[in-house]
Amino acid sequence: MAEPEACSLENYLALPDHSMDERIAAARQALGKTTILLGHHYQRDEVIRFADFTGDSYKLSKAASETEAQFIVFCGVHFMAESADVLGHAGQQVILPDLNAGCSMADMAEIGQVEECWQTLLDAGVGEDEILPLTYMNSSAAIKAFCGERGGLVCTSSNARGAFHWAFQRAKKILFLPDQHLGRNTGHAMGIPLSEMVVYDPWQGLAGIGGGITPERLRVAKVILWKGHCSVHQRFLPEHVTNVRAKYPGIQVIVHPECRLEVCEKADALGSTERLIKIVREAPAGSTFAIGTEIHLVNRLAKEFAPLGKRIVTLDDTGCLCTTMYRISPQHLAWALENLIAGRVVNRIQVREDVKYWARVALDRMLEIRA
Ligand code: SF4
Repeated sequence: MAEPEACSLENYLALPDHSMDERIAAARQALGKTTILLGHHYQRDEVIRFADFTGDSYKLSKAASETEAQFIVFCGVHFMAESADVLGHAGQQVILPDLNAGCSMADMAEIGQVEECWQTLLDAGVGEDEILPLTYMNSSAAIKAFCGERGGLVCTSSNARGAFHWAFQRAKKILFLPDQHLGRNTGHAMGIPLSEMVVYDPWQGLAGIGGGITPERLRVAKVILWKGHCSVHQRFLPEHVTNVRAKYPGIQVIVHPECRLEVCEKADALGSTERLIKIVREAPAGSTFAIGTEIHLVNRLAKEFAPLGKRIVTLDDTGCLCTTMYRISPQHLAWALENLIAGRVVNRIQVREDVKYWARVALDRMLEIRA
Protein backbone atom coordinates (compact mmCIF):
# COMPACT_ATOMS: atom_id res chain seq x y z
CA MET A 1 0.00 0.00 0.00
CA ALA A 2 1.34 3.46 -0.91
CA GLU A 3 2.33 5.85 1.85
CA PRO A 4 -0.13 8.71 2.44
CA GLU A 5 2.62 11.18 1.48
CA ALA A 6 2.88 9.60 -1.97
CA CYS A 7 -0.80 10.33 -2.52
CA SER A 8 -0.61 14.02 -1.71
CA LEU A 9 -1.99 16.06 -4.63
CA GLU A 10 1.00 18.45 -4.62
CA ASN A 11 3.29 15.57 -5.59
CA TYR A 12 1.22 14.98 -8.71
CA LEU A 13 0.76 18.60 -9.76
CA ALA A 14 4.52 19.04 -10.01
CA LEU A 15 4.74 16.39 -12.75
CA PRO A 16 4.13 16.81 -16.50
CA ASP A 17 0.86 15.59 -18.11
CA HIS A 18 2.42 12.83 -20.22
CA SER A 19 4.09 11.24 -17.20
CA MET A 20 0.63 10.35 -15.88
CA ASP A 21 -0.40 8.10 -18.79
CA GLU A 22 1.20 4.89 -17.61
CA ARG A 23 0.18 5.48 -14.01
CA ILE A 24 -3.46 6.08 -14.94
CA ALA A 25 -3.50 3.00 -17.18
CA ALA A 26 -1.91 0.88 -14.42
CA ALA A 27 -4.34 2.19 -11.81
CA ARG A 28 -7.30 1.43 -14.11
CA GLN A 29 -5.98 -2.09 -14.49
CA ALA A 30 -5.46 -2.57 -10.76
CA LEU A 31 -8.91 -1.25 -9.86
CA GLY A 32 -10.63 -3.41 -12.47
CA LYS A 33 -14.42 -3.53 -12.39
CA THR A 34 -14.64 -1.87 -8.99
CA THR A 35 -14.21 1.52 -10.64
CA ILE A 36 -15.82 3.13 -13.64
CA LEU A 37 -14.50 6.23 -15.31
CA LEU A 38 -16.89 8.65 -16.99
CA GLY A 39 -15.75 11.29 -19.49
CA HIS A 40 -17.95 14.18 -20.58
CA HIS A 41 -17.74 15.21 -24.24
CA TYR A 42 -16.10 18.52 -23.29
CA GLN A 43 -13.30 16.86 -21.37
CA ARG A 44 -9.72 17.25 -22.55
CA ASP A 45 -8.14 14.46 -24.67
CA GLU A 46 -5.46 13.54 -22.11
CA VAL A 47 -8.25 12.58 -19.70
CA ILE A 48 -11.18 11.39 -21.83
CA ARG A 49 -9.10 8.71 -23.52
CA PHE A 50 -9.19 6.71 -20.27
CA ALA A 51 -12.99 6.86 -19.95
CA ASP A 52 -15.14 3.71 -19.96
CA PHE A 53 -18.09 5.78 -21.11
CA THR A 54 -18.23 9.13 -22.91
CA GLY A 55 -21.34 11.21 -23.38
CA ASP A 56 -23.44 13.99 -21.95
CA SER A 57 -24.13 14.24 -18.24
CA TYR A 58 -27.46 12.40 -18.06
CA LYS A 59 -26.33 9.55 -20.30
CA LEU A 60 -23.17 9.11 -18.24
CA SER A 61 -24.95 9.08 -14.88
CA LYS A 62 -27.49 6.53 -16.15
CA ALA A 63 -24.75 4.36 -17.61
CA ALA A 64 -22.81 4.36 -14.34
CA SER A 65 -25.88 3.49 -12.27
CA GLU A 66 -26.44 0.44 -14.47
CA THR A 67 -23.01 -1.00 -13.68
CA GLU A 68 -21.90 -2.83 -10.58
CA ALA A 69 -18.93 -0.51 -10.07
CA GLN A 70 -18.46 0.62 -6.52
CA PHE A 71 -16.59 3.80 -7.46
CA ILE A 72 -17.66 6.25 -10.15
CA VAL A 73 -14.89 8.66 -11.13
CA PHE A 74 -16.63 11.48 -12.96
CA CYS A 75 -14.40 13.49 -15.29
CA GLY A 76 -16.87 16.31 -15.68
CA VAL A 77 -18.11 19.09 -13.43
CA HIS A 78 -19.69 19.25 -9.99
CA PHE A 79 -23.40 19.07 -10.91
CA MET A 80 -22.70 16.00 -13.06
CA ALA A 81 -21.08 14.19 -10.16
CA GLU A 82 -24.05 15.13 -7.99
CA SER A 83 -26.44 13.67 -10.57
CA ALA A 84 -24.41 10.46 -10.65
CA ASP A 85 -24.74 10.27 -6.86
CA VAL A 86 -28.50 10.88 -7.06
CA LEU A 87 -29.02 8.23 -9.75
CA GLY A 88 -26.42 5.78 -8.43
CA HIS A 89 -27.42 2.71 -6.48
CA ALA A 90 -26.75 2.03 -2.82
CA GLY A 91 -23.09 1.43 -2.18
CA GLN A 92 -21.80 3.43 -5.15
CA GLN A 93 -19.49 6.32 -4.35
CA VAL A 94 -18.88 9.21 -6.74
CA ILE A 95 -15.54 10.98 -7.04
CA LEU A 96 -14.85 14.31 -8.77
CA PRO A 97 -11.06 14.44 -9.33
CA ASP A 98 -10.93 18.22 -8.79
CA LEU A 99 -13.53 19.85 -6.55
CA ASN A 100 -12.88 23.17 -8.29
CA ALA A 101 -14.47 21.82 -11.46
CA GLY A 102 -17.76 23.68 -11.16
CA CYS A 103 -20.10 24.94 -13.87
CA SER A 104 -20.60 28.67 -14.33
CA MET A 105 -24.21 28.14 -15.39
CA ALA A 106 -25.17 25.86 -12.50
CA ASP A 107 -23.53 28.31 -10.09
CA MET A 108 -25.81 31.11 -11.33
CA ALA A 109 -28.81 29.64 -9.53
CA GLU A 110 -28.39 29.18 -5.80
CA ILE A 111 -31.14 27.53 -3.85
CA GLY A 112 -31.74 30.57 -1.59
CA GLN A 113 -32.19 32.80 -4.63
CA VAL A 114 -34.59 30.34 -6.26
CA GLU A 115 -36.67 30.09 -3.09
CA GLU A 116 -36.81 33.89 -2.99
CA CYS A 117 -37.91 33.99 -6.63
CA TRP A 118 -40.68 31.48 -5.89
CA GLN A 119 -41.89 33.61 -3.02
CA THR A 120 -41.79 36.70 -5.26
CA LEU A 121 -44.03 34.87 -7.74
CA LEU A 122 -46.48 33.89 -5.02
CA ASP A 123 -46.45 37.44 -3.62
CA ALA A 124 -47.20 38.74 -7.12
CA GLY A 125 -50.39 36.69 -7.08
CA VAL A 126 -49.26 33.67 -9.10
CA GLY A 127 -51.02 30.62 -7.63
CA GLU A 128 -48.91 27.55 -6.81
CA ASP A 129 -51.20 25.47 -9.01
CA GLU A 130 -50.61 27.84 -11.94
CA ILE A 131 -46.86 27.38 -12.29
CA LEU A 132 -44.34 24.53 -12.48
CA PRO A 133 -40.58 24.84 -11.99
CA LEU A 134 -38.43 23.06 -14.58
CA THR A 135 -34.69 22.86 -14.43
CA TYR A 136 -32.07 22.01 -16.97
CA MET A 137 -29.77 19.14 -16.07
CA ASN A 138 -27.01 21.73 -15.59
CA SER A 139 -28.09 22.75 -12.10
CA SER A 140 -27.25 21.76 -8.55
CA ALA A 141 -28.98 18.83 -6.86
CA ALA A 142 -30.67 21.35 -4.54
CA ILE A 143 -32.33 23.07 -7.54
CA LYS A 144 -33.39 19.72 -8.97
CA ALA A 145 -34.89 18.83 -5.59
CA PHE A 146 -36.68 22.19 -5.45
CA CYS A 147 -38.36 21.34 -8.76
CA GLY A 148 -39.16 17.77 -7.74
CA GLU A 149 -40.79 18.86 -4.50
CA ARG A 150 -43.06 21.31 -6.36
CA GLY A 151 -44.27 18.95 -9.05
CA GLY A 152 -41.68 19.95 -11.66
CA LEU A 153 -38.92 18.06 -13.39
CA VAL A 154 -35.45 18.04 -14.88
CA CYS A 155 -34.86 18.18 -18.62
CA THR A 156 -31.89 17.89 -20.95
CA SER A 157 -31.17 19.99 -24.02
CA SER A 158 -32.66 17.23 -26.18
CA ASN A 159 -36.01 16.97 -24.39
CA ALA A 160 -36.57 20.57 -23.24
CA ARG A 161 -39.39 21.01 -25.74
CA GLY A 162 -41.09 17.85 -24.52
CA ALA A 163 -40.66 19.12 -20.96
CA PHE A 164 -42.40 22.39 -21.85
CA HIS A 165 -45.31 20.44 -23.39
CA TRP A 166 -45.48 18.25 -20.30
CA ALA A 167 -45.59 21.30 -18.03
CA PHE A 168 -48.18 23.19 -20.08
CA GLN A 169 -50.51 20.18 -19.87
CA ARG A 170 -50.43 20.66 -16.09
CA ALA A 171 -49.99 24.39 -15.50
CA LYS A 172 -50.28 27.78 -17.21
CA LYS A 173 -46.77 28.97 -16.51
CA ILE A 174 -43.21 27.71 -16.28
CA LEU A 175 -40.28 28.89 -14.18
CA PHE A 176 -37.27 27.71 -16.19
CA LEU A 177 -33.89 27.33 -14.46
CA PRO A 178 -31.04 28.15 -14.85
CA ASP A 179 -30.30 28.72 -18.57
CA GLN A 180 -32.24 31.60 -20.08
CA HIS A 181 -31.06 30.71 -23.60
CA LEU A 182 -32.23 27.10 -23.62
CA GLY A 183 -35.54 28.26 -22.12
CA ARG A 184 -35.99 31.09 -24.63
CA ASN A 185 -34.96 28.95 -27.61
CA THR A 186 -37.39 26.24 -26.53
CA GLY A 187 -40.30 28.62 -25.94
CA HIS A 188 -39.61 30.46 -29.20
CA ALA A 189 -39.55 27.21 -31.19
CA MET A 190 -42.97 26.41 -29.71
CA GLY A 191 -44.36 29.75 -30.87
CA ILE A 192 -44.43 31.49 -27.50
CA PRO A 193 -43.94 35.23 -28.19
CA LEU A 194 -40.81 36.76 -26.68
CA SER A 195 -43.06 39.30 -24.95
CA GLU A 196 -44.54 36.44 -22.92
CA MET A 197 -41.12 35.29 -21.69
CA VAL A 198 -39.56 37.46 -18.99
CA VAL A 199 -36.09 37.20 -17.46
CA TYR A 200 -35.88 37.05 -13.68
CA ASP A 201 -32.60 38.52 -12.46
CA PRO A 202 -31.83 37.24 -8.94
CA TRP A 203 -29.44 40.13 -8.39
CA GLN A 204 -32.14 42.76 -8.90
CA GLY A 205 -34.31 43.01 -5.84
CA LEU A 206 -35.85 46.47 -5.77
CA ALA A 207 -38.73 46.85 -3.34
CA GLY A 208 -41.86 45.49 -4.99
CA ILE A 209 -39.99 44.58 -8.18
CA GLY A 210 -38.33 41.28 -7.30
CA GLY A 211 -36.02 39.97 -9.99
CA GLY A 212 -36.40 43.27 -11.87
CA ILE A 213 -39.90 42.39 -13.10
CA THR A 214 -43.10 44.07 -11.98
CA PRO A 215 -45.75 41.85 -10.32
CA GLU A 216 -48.08 42.58 -13.27
CA ARG A 217 -45.57 41.19 -15.78
CA LEU A 218 -44.88 38.17 -13.59
CA ARG A 219 -48.61 37.46 -13.52
CA VAL A 220 -49.09 37.58 -17.29
CA ALA A 221 -45.83 35.95 -18.41
CA LYS A 222 -46.07 32.40 -19.69
CA VAL A 223 -42.41 31.57 -19.12
CA ILE A 224 -40.20 33.05 -16.42
CA LEU A 225 -36.59 32.55 -17.47
CA TRP A 226 -33.84 32.56 -14.88
CA LYS A 227 -31.00 34.94 -15.72
CA GLY A 228 -28.31 32.29 -16.12
CA HIS A 229 -26.17 31.26 -19.05
CA CYS A 230 -23.26 29.10 -20.08
CA SER A 231 -20.12 31.20 -20.32
CA VAL A 232 -18.89 29.01 -23.18
CA HIS A 233 -21.98 29.01 -25.41
CA GLN A 234 -23.03 32.59 -24.75
CA ARG A 235 -19.78 33.74 -26.36
CA PHE A 236 -21.02 32.79 -29.83
CA LEU A 237 -22.48 35.77 -31.69
CA PRO A 238 -24.56 36.16 -34.88
CA GLU A 239 -21.58 37.76 -36.64
CA HIS A 240 -19.60 34.56 -36.11
CA VAL A 241 -22.19 32.79 -38.24
CA THR A 242 -21.99 35.50 -40.91
CA ASN A 243 -18.19 35.38 -40.93
CA VAL A 244 -17.89 31.61 -41.16
CA ARG A 245 -20.41 31.46 -44.00
CA ALA A 246 -18.40 34.09 -45.90
CA LYS A 247 -15.17 32.19 -45.32
CA TYR A 248 -16.48 28.72 -46.20
CA PRO A 249 -19.25 28.96 -48.82
CA GLY A 250 -21.76 26.14 -48.42
CA ILE A 251 -20.80 25.43 -44.81
CA GLN A 252 -23.46 24.12 -42.44
CA VAL A 253 -23.63 25.84 -39.08
CA ILE A 254 -24.79 23.68 -36.20
CA VAL A 255 -25.00 24.96 -32.63
CA HIS A 256 -25.96 23.96 -29.12
CA PRO A 257 -29.25 25.42 -27.79
CA GLU A 258 -27.36 27.05 -24.90
CA CYS A 259 -26.37 29.64 -27.54
CA ARG A 260 -28.26 32.93 -27.87
CA LEU A 261 -31.52 32.97 -29.84
CA GLU A 262 -29.96 35.28 -32.47
CA VAL A 263 -27.25 32.67 -33.12
CA CYS A 264 -29.66 29.72 -33.16
CA GLU A 265 -31.89 31.53 -35.64
CA LYS A 266 -29.02 31.95 -38.08
CA ALA A 267 -27.83 28.34 -37.72
CA ASP A 268 -28.84 25.45 -39.99
CA ALA A 269 -29.55 23.17 -37.05
CA LEU A 270 -29.29 23.07 -33.30
CA GLY A 271 -29.04 20.22 -30.89
CA SER A 272 -27.55 18.65 -27.82
CA THR A 273 -23.96 17.44 -27.97
CA GLU A 274 -25.25 13.96 -28.84
CA ARG A 275 -27.35 15.37 -31.69
CA LEU A 276 -24.49 17.52 -33.03
CA ILE A 277 -22.30 14.42 -33.16
CA LYS A 278 -25.06 12.48 -34.93
CA ILE A 279 -25.52 15.19 -37.56
CA VAL A 280 -21.81 15.09 -38.38
CA ARG A 281 -21.67 11.30 -38.35
CA GLU A 282 -24.61 10.95 -40.74
CA ALA A 283 -23.49 13.66 -43.16
CA PRO A 284 -22.04 12.55 -46.51
CA ALA A 285 -18.32 12.81 -47.25
CA GLY A 286 -17.39 16.27 -48.43
CA SER A 287 -19.64 18.02 -45.89
CA THR A 288 -18.30 21.04 -44.04
CA PHE A 289 -19.54 22.13 -40.62
CA ALA A 290 -18.95 25.03 -38.26
CA ILE A 291 -19.92 23.90 -34.79
CA GLY A 292 -20.94 26.19 -31.97
CA THR A 293 -20.02 24.27 -28.86
CA GLU A 294 -17.10 23.57 -26.54
CA ILE A 295 -13.74 23.45 -28.34
CA HIS A 296 -12.56 20.02 -27.16
CA LEU A 297 -15.55 18.30 -28.70
CA VAL A 298 -15.19 20.30 -31.92
CA ASN A 299 -11.48 19.49 -32.23
CA ARG A 300 -12.09 15.82 -31.50
CA LEU A 301 -14.79 15.63 -34.18
CA ALA A 302 -12.55 17.45 -36.66
CA LYS A 303 -9.82 14.87 -36.10
CA GLU A 304 -12.16 11.88 -36.19
CA PHE A 305 -14.03 12.84 -39.35
CA ALA A 306 -11.18 14.34 -41.44
CA PRO A 307 -10.19 10.92 -42.83
CA LEU A 308 -13.83 10.48 -43.94
CA GLY A 309 -13.66 13.68 -45.98
CA LYS A 310 -15.65 15.88 -43.59
CA ARG A 311 -14.29 19.25 -42.62
CA ILE A 312 -15.15 20.63 -39.20
CA VAL A 313 -14.24 24.04 -37.81
CA THR A 314 -15.20 25.91 -34.69
CA LEU A 315 -17.78 28.67 -35.06
CA ASP A 316 -15.44 31.05 -33.23
CA ASP A 317 -11.77 30.39 -32.75
CA THR A 318 -11.11 33.04 -30.13
CA GLY A 319 -12.07 31.03 -27.09
CA CYS A 320 -14.81 28.57 -26.33
CA LEU A 321 -13.14 26.44 -23.72
CA CYS A 322 -14.99 25.18 -20.66
CA THR A 323 -12.31 26.24 -18.21
CA THR A 324 -13.86 24.49 -15.24
CA MET A 325 -14.14 21.15 -17.05
CA TYR A 326 -10.50 21.66 -18.04
CA ARG A 327 -9.53 21.62 -14.38
CA ILE A 328 -9.78 17.82 -14.40
CA SER A 329 -6.19 17.15 -15.34
CA PRO A 330 -4.33 13.84 -15.81
CA GLN A 331 -2.61 14.63 -12.49
CA HIS A 332 -5.95 14.94 -10.65
CA LEU A 333 -7.18 11.75 -12.26
CA ALA A 334 -4.03 9.79 -11.35
CA TRP A 335 -4.22 11.16 -7.80
CA ALA A 336 -7.85 10.09 -7.37
CA LEU A 337 -7.21 6.61 -8.80
CA GLU A 338 -4.00 5.90 -6.89
CA ASN A 339 -5.69 6.99 -3.68
CA LEU A 340 -8.43 4.47 -4.40
CA ILE A 341 -5.81 1.77 -4.77
CA ALA A 342 -4.45 2.86 -1.39
CA GLY A 343 -7.95 2.48 0.06
CA ARG A 344 -8.73 6.19 0.30
CA VAL A 345 -11.71 7.85 -1.33
CA VAL A 346 -10.79 11.45 -2.12
CA ASN A 347 -13.16 14.21 -3.31
CA ARG A 348 -16.30 12.18 -2.77
CA ILE A 349 -19.49 13.95 -3.89
CA GLN A 350 -22.35 13.08 -1.61
CA VAL A 351 -25.79 14.65 -1.91
CA ARG A 352 -27.82 15.00 1.31
CA GLU A 353 -30.47 12.28 1.59
CA ASP A 354 -33.54 14.57 1.59
CA VAL A 355 -32.16 16.53 -1.38
CA LYS A 356 -31.33 13.28 -3.12
CA TYR A 357 -34.88 12.01 -2.70
CA TRP A 358 -36.56 15.01 -4.37
CA ALA A 359 -33.86 15.40 -7.01
CA ARG A 360 -34.47 11.77 -7.93
CA VAL A 361 -38.19 12.45 -8.17
CA ALA A 362 -37.51 15.33 -10.60
CA LEU A 363 -35.10 13.20 -12.64
CA ASP A 364 -37.47 10.23 -12.77
CA ARG A 365 -40.30 12.50 -13.96
CA MET A 366 -38.20 13.15 -17.04
CA LEU A 367 -39.27 9.69 -18.19
CA GLU A 368 -42.84 11.05 -18.50
CA ILE A 369 -41.74 13.46 -21.21
CA ARG A 370 -42.67 12.59 -24.75
CA ALA A 371 -40.09 14.19 -27.04
S1 SF4 B 1 -19.86 24.13 -21.08
FE1 SF4 B 1 -21.07 25.65 -19.96
S2 SF4 B 1 -22.84 24.55 -19.15
FE2 SF4 B 1 -21.31 23.00 -19.78
S3 SF4 B 1 -20.14 22.59 -17.92
FE3 SF4 B 1 -19.02 24.21 -19.01
S4 SF4 B 1 -19.84 26.15 -18.13
FE4 SF4 B 1 -21.26 24.50 -17.56
